[in-house]
Amino acid sequence: MSAATRSRTPDRLCADAVELAREAAEDAAFPQPVGPHLAVEAEGDRVATHYFESADPAYRGWRWRVTVARAARARYVTLDEVSLSPGQDALLAPEWLPWSERLRPGDLGPGDLLPSDADDLRLEPGISGEDEAPPNSAVAAEDAPGTLRRADLGPLAEELGMGRPRVLSRFGLREAAERWEENYGPQTAMAQSAPASCLSCGFLVPLTGSLRQAFGVCANEYAPADGRVVSLGFGCGAHSEAASLIPKPAQPAPPVIDHVGADPL
Ligand code: SF4
Repeated sequence: MSAATRSRTPDRLCADAVELAREAAEDAAFPQPVGPHLAVEAEGDRVATHYFESADPAYRGWRWRVTVARAARARYVTLDEVSLSPGQDALLAPEWLPWSERLRPGDLGPGDLLPSDADDLRLEPGISGEDEAPPNSAVAAEDAPGTLRRADLGPLAEELGMGRPRVLSRFGLREAAERWEENYGPQTAMAQSAPASCLSCGFLVPLTGSLRQAFGVCANEYAPADGRVVSLGFGCGAHSEAASLIPKPAQPAPPVIDHVGADPL
């Protein structure tokens, strides 16, 4: 029923039916008790809703709503429906989010599957080679001179993303680089106190492709970044040349012997 059709003043007999409404609320709430009567509101002609505070500790701030009604010219009020609804201070569950938005790094366990969306911005189409004509076929012979073919590239084809349906997009590349830079970059406390950067460390395994210019993988089991992608500007105390890079302690000056005031023995 729309608000426009609701009468403001509840029907008197419906408003007086507090005990009927309380009994219904107590039946629904059993074995928990029901709190005090809070209010009564008109829902329409001869229809009113009574509100009772929930005394259930698990539903603090919730209210029992009991709707009662009366037929035209009838003297008896009857029960319509009972429900529990949240009040303004009710403790509510967080808003539901789809799993794809709830997922956090590290949530994926053994056996879990996490398919990427077809329109995942981090990926773009690669060159699988499926639509290439077989070598020496009539169609292949018609390829324009200089056409790049997978077979011609050998092992380099894999590195360029040929053979994979999708490869990392520029967006995905930048996202990954920013993440690695944040965790293992030159601004971290570890890098700031390192004797030198990963760039000059023997434990650094360079990446291939464009990422090689800025990142490598640390292969020092004693380093905090072992097995991680590190920025070339990162560094740690386990740097391969740390021994020669640590400043030598200052040598004490040779003792001065006073030959004027005392005779040497
Ligand atoms: S050992 Fe330290 S300095 Fe060397 S690559 Fe690993 S993190 Fe970088």
